[in-house]
Amino acid sequence: MKIPAFPDDEARRQDSLDSLKLVDTPSEERFDRITRLAQSFFGVPIVLVSMVDRERQWFKSSQGLDASETPRDVSFCGHAILGEHALVVADTSQDERFADNPLVTGDPKIRFYAGHPVAAPDGQRVGTLCLIDTEPRDLSAVEQRTLADLAALVENELKSSQLSETQLELRTELATAQMKAAIDPLTRLWNRESIFEIARRELARAKRSRTPLAVAFVDIDDFKAINDGYGHLVGDDVLRFIAERMRAAVRPYDAVGRYGGEEFLIVLAETDRDIAEKVCERVRQRIQEKDPDAQKGTPTVTTSVGVAHGTGDNLPELERLVEVADEALYRAKQSGKNRVVVAQGSFS
Ligand code: GH3
Ligand code: MG
Ligand code: MG
Repeated sequence: MKIPAFPDDEARRQDSLDSLKLVDTPSEERFDRITRLAQSFFGVPIVLVSMVDRERQWFKSSQGLDASETPRDVSFCGHAILGEHALVVADTSQDERFADNPLVTGDPKIRFYAGHPVAAPDGQRVGTLCLIDTEPRDLSAVEQRTLADLAALVENELKSSQLSETQLELRTELATAQMKAAIDPLTRLWNRESIFEIARRELARAKRSRTPLAVAFVDIDDFKAINDGYGHLVGDDVLRFIAERMRAAVRPYDAVGRYGGEEFLIVLAETDRDIAEKVCERVRQRIQEKDPDAQKGTPTVTTSVGVAHGTGDNLPELERLVEVADEALYRAKQSGKNRVVVAQGSFS
């Protein structure tokens, strides 16, 4: 196996990646829609947006692979960032650089790899958009062009961050080790502690600047029955699916976190009652639409949502605000589930 070399300007390249503040942030719809598109266009099981970091490659977006990172030493993308064009390995078993790579001999059993480098706005190649198959295959000239086009779309997304200021603040203040722990590994959403911290900061800001704020509790309806009927692994798929749908339904700067088992918290900054209700209603609807990916076979699920909102000084402490959202959620469950209930008049 050949370990990928470091580019000559590795220090500058790493600086460039660091300054994007992208590694160890939650998944975002704007990247996921590109990997989904690639997955269906090329018909491959795995598509990744991989960032080549100091000693690892970390996946900003991943279709078909549960791992969130692998060591850089064994990465294909570490090789792909060395060139300007796509690295295509038609059959890993015939390529001495990769034939005994643990990602080839073991899971995910890579037989085909095509990775197009993606550059940060300063031109440094910080990662790749890559396709992986467990069967050997080729990439036609048209397909190569499409891969390059999709990689350019990823580069476009690298030009701007769409996380809210508060989310970026958290990303900046936490050390790398803490940051890794701030993301829920199953759903790739903020975890309980970080979504609470984001909510706390947004609440302080709303009070200071006399702006509105809403928080929403999302709870899956009858999830126990899904686990009992289909098994825990399908239950986990449903959680991933719901996380993806929530990310797609909210606005980019809204923060979504996994509050607990099958409960999620959405923090909607500068959002009044009516907009909050609209966003949450969209979340509810997007989740109950059938998963078009028949392979996954995930059962259709519904969710109930409780919303609390307020403006400026009228807002209570976070614990109280969350409690009111929870009470609204309880009413949504009591009145038949699969609905959004907004706490009346809460703190306007
Ligand atoms: P309701 O409509 O009232 O919310 O009913 P429910 O069945 O969704 O609620 P309940 O709180 O009774 O059940 C939640 C279930 O979520 C129980 C637990 O097994 C499951 N759960 C919690 N965390 C996970 C997880 O990480 N993976 C899976 N597969 N299931 C989980
Ligand atoms: Mg629950
Ligand atoms: Mg539930």
